[in-house]
Amino acid sequence: MSGAGYSSKCKTCNSARRLEIEAWHEAGDTSQEIEIRLKSLGEEISHTAILKHLNNHYNVQEAAREKYYQSQQQIENDANKRLSDLEILDALIQDNHEIHKGLRLQIKELKDKFTTPMPAIAMLNGVGDSICKAMKTKQELLGEDPESHKADTLLELINAVSETEEG
Ligand SMILES: [Zn+2]
Repeated sequence: MSGAGYSSKCKTCNSARRLEIEAWHEAGDTSQEIEIRLKSLGEEISHTAILKHLNNHYNVQEAAREKYYQSQQQIENDANKRLSDLEILDALIQDNHEIHKGLRLQIKELKDKFTTPMPAIAMLNGVGDSICKAMKTKQELLGEDPESHKADTLLELINAVSETEEG
């Protein structure tokens, strides 16, 4: 129970059941469930007051540490997601490049016999466009695009977490 605090105004701090309440919390009870359980034992503390106690007076370091690990996990998830997005984009670029090469060859062969059919050219341009779009998206995901705000969003997330820890 290191890092525990105390306030004379806090009902939970002054409750004879303080340790019990904290044990229920550790076992996974929500503050609402604790409120109901206390009521059945003849003690009334609102769940908001219980939550305040848990946040401010109970194992403060542990709570901060948990929040930190959660944010780390989130960042890792984001990174993994970006990695798989990049993998999809790479496969898409690779596939489209193959298609593009094949189409160009076919058009060249056709050109020798007939005039080049317009749908084939439109198709070639379409494939070329999607390669460009995929490459641009890839740059954005990697933060290589100066207009990309993805990195900033991650930074904001980290800052937001450290701000709530200070408060
Ligand atoms: Zn308290």
